[in-house]
Amino acid sequence: MRKIIAAGNWKMNGSRTMTATLINTIKGGLAKDCNCEVLICPSFGYLSLACGLLAGSPIKLGAQNISTEASGAHTGEISGDMLVDLGCTHVLVGHSERRALYGETSEIVAVKFEEAQLVGLTPVLCLGETLEQREAGETEKVVEQQLQTVIGRVGIDAFERSVLAYEPVWAIGTGQTATPDQAQKVHAFLRRTIAAQNGSIADSLRILYGGSVNGSNAAELFAMLDVDGGLVGGASLKGDQFLDICAAA
Ligand code: PEP
Repeated sequence: MRKIIAAGNWKMNGSRTMTATLINTIKGGLAKDCNCEVLICPSFGYLSLACGLLAGSPIKLGAQNISTEASGAHTGEISGDMLVDLGCTHVLVGHSERRALYGETSEIVAVKFEEAQLVGLTPVLCLGETLEQREAGETEKVVEQQLQTVIGRVGIDAFERSVLAYEPVWAIGTGQTATPDQAQKVHAFLRRTIAAQNGSIADSLRILYGGSVNGSNAAELFAMLDVDGGLVGGASLKGDQFLDICAAA
């Protein structure tokens, strides 16, 4: 049985006040019997504050990005060791905004995935096709290439300590959620792709769906056989919405 994950990607939003308010709302509102794993990913500048606020709570802390380098002359970058030092257990790699806006290729994403695991962080590997690629019938080809590039670098066994997030680019921040069937189809394909290389890793690997998840659509998405939770952008900035998503899990 795979435990559902509700993960919030705060992107470049927030302030010290907002970080404290949102974390306290989530901590206070999370049901004692909540059966899901909760992860929040604030911006780098608020990780330390978030870590302090989360002390003693089961909510996990993740970062949104990691350097390909371990240390040294890389102005503006943040290393895996630093993220661990700041209290992170997880890090997003390959988010579509990083791929599209900051030129991250699948090869760069694979190095980041490896760097994360080298320091003990759990990478959340984001994959997904654009609308153009979906309409051209290339969804499976695109996500397979994104996945295989990482497997090619780190090997299939590394996926035992990772999470996947299928995030169709056309659904991110648009309010246009994939239908549960559309999500399930791609999730099942990803699981089959992993299973062809290691069945037990495929069985235990959590595959999250991301793309306009909110309090109203989370339950039907999470009910799908191969959807093991959500990576949530916009709705994770609203305490009540995010709590509804956690409850849906
Ligand atoms: C995301 O950025 O990972 C995301 C899924 O955003 P949203 O939920 O706003 O579509």
